[in-house]
Amino acid sequence: MKFSELGLKDSILSAITKMGYESPTPIQEKSIPYLLENDGDLIGLASTGTGKTASFGLPLLNQVDTQSKNTQGLVICPTRELCIQISNDLKAYSENIKGLSIVPVYGGTDIGRQIKQIERGAQIVVATPGRLIDLINRKKIKLWEVEAVVLDEADEMLNMGFKEDIDAILDQTPDFKNVWLFSATMPKEVARIAKNYMEDPFEITVGGKNETNKNIEHHYYTVKERDRFQALKSVIDFNPNIYGVIFCRTRRDTAAVADKLMAGGYNAEPIHGDLSQAQRDRVMDKFRSKTLQLLVATDVAARGIDVNDITHVIHYQLPEDVENYTHRSGRTARAGKKGTSIALINTKEGRKIKSIERIINTSFELKKVPTSDQICEKQLLSLIKGIKNDEADTSRIDTFLPVLMEELGEYSKEEIIKRFVATEFNKFLDYYENARDLNATARDNGRDDFGSKKRGRDSRNDPNQQRFFVGLGRKDGFNHGALLRLLCDNTGISKANIGKIDILEKFSFFDADKNETERILESMKGVDFEGNRMSIEKTKGSNDKGDGKRSSSRRSGGRSRRNERSKSSNRRRSYRN
Ligand code: AMP
Repeated sequence: MKFSELGLKDSILSAITKMGYESPTPIQEKSIPYLLENDGDLIGLASTGTGKTASFGLPLLNQVDTQSKNTQGLVICPTRELCIQISNDLKAYSENIKGLSIVPVYGGTDIGRQIKQIERGAQIVVATPGRLIDLINRKKIKLWEVEAVVLDEADEMLNMGFKEDIDAILDQTPDFKNVWLFSATMPKEVARIAKNYMEDPFEITVGGKNETNKNIEHHYYTVKERDRFQALKSVIDFNPNIYGVIFCRTRRDTAAVADKLMAGGYNAEPIHGDLSQAQRDRVMDKFRSKTLQLLVATDVAARGIDVNDITHVIHYQLPEDVENYTHRSGRTARAGKKGTSIALINTKEGRKIKSIERIINTSFELKKVPTSDQICEKQLLSLIKGIKNDEADTSRIDTFLPVLMEELGEYSKEEIIKRFVATEFNKFLDYYENARDLNATARDNGRDDFGSKKRGRDSRNDPNQQRFFVGLGRKDGFNHGALLRLLCDNTGISKANIGKIDILEKFSFFDADKNETERILESMKGVDFEGNRMSIEKTKGSNDKGDGKRSSSRRSGGRSRRNERSKSSNRRRSYRN
């Protein structure tokens, strides 16, 4: 089907042709003719990236009366980012419609300017719920001529606690208006809005109900809890051209994962609620422009991330609420492109994968964390392909060629290739040389078991564990529970990352995931237990025999292998440079 067959005005058709839209997406094909021909309510069930904006935007623009300055179309969406995106899309679609004004209103920015824009006349207002309520309360927006209210990403808005706001907004709009509701999923709360505010809505479902985009492949890797971060790095390294979003559950984990990735030379940055709006905007701008390769995000901060070409969504941890999986994975495979959604799970989370499979009505594929050889081969090929495809101006080297020939002339072509690749690549190979197999089986409970029995397992010979000394013991009333509680509360790391604990008379020892060493030492500074300061230090070595000897953390420092990646391998991580 062609856009020209849908019944849209020529002024709109010419604009979307200019934008490169050739044929309507499935949801556009169904919703546009319906909305143009019928005066009724509509429910569109489709995930993000399926072309929803044009599905409601084109019919909305088609029906606007530019002779009137009053607000006729109201689009409500969950986030500031989405609000800006929708209004920009609508502006592009209506480029050739004279006298039309589209105004985005969202929080976190000067309301005065938005009020002035509305007062000048805005036939279409695109708003986030909170700011719209503010404008309604200040009597700065008149909604009595609104003919269509679009609720975009309705499930997200309800997830974010906008239920009352949406009710209040809908109550302010005239009875004759139509409601066009779009949602990726159909939880009870969304159904309630449909029941209360819509009349016999026409329902369009793209794919199955609650089903995610068919262009997304869903993979999962089962690893022990303590290997989660290492597995993340392996997955990233195995996909050298990844342009992705990594989801974590909490702000703290988001910041920690991003910090560790950055320290390891990856081109990654976090986005979460502890950052100011300006900081979030800066990160998003970098990500959109592909200067940033990996965005590490909380579910909330990632809402409204509408960026095309994202190749991978990685669930560093599965979402608390499995419904959120759909939203997360919908960030990839937009606009008909393909994408991969990767979940890293521990040995006890298999059941969650099963529940998600039921919700999205799609099977996951269990993948093996790639071996060092597989990763190195991938990286090497990527390096070589980069050289082949690079259109660098080699003529500038001509001047130096005689000297280079004199120096390297004695080597064969094969020898020169080997030497150049080795210079670039040896540090990377070194890094992976002795890497362990990170795959775990569901039965292998290992350290995922939070119970005391497994915690008793001696992991001092494990190179991934760091042993710590604590200057408190039984005589101070110190015990296992207190140690665990203080560690988890102050560092934010999970119990699963803490290993064997030995409480002795005057002092204690515990093991923890080596990757968490800095976090533990930093976060535990100054923490006290019942008035006694809890001095924590690294013991001399993780593989100590006996109960470990104290040593100053400074003394046992030294560059970790992770930080020994070569500068050149770090450079390669910049996206498409
Ligand atoms: P949306 O779901 O509306 O955010 O759209 C996702 C992406 O697909 C956006 O970048 C749109 O510009 C693009 N898009 C939407 N409809 C079409 C179409 N019919 N042809 C090509 N690209 C489209």
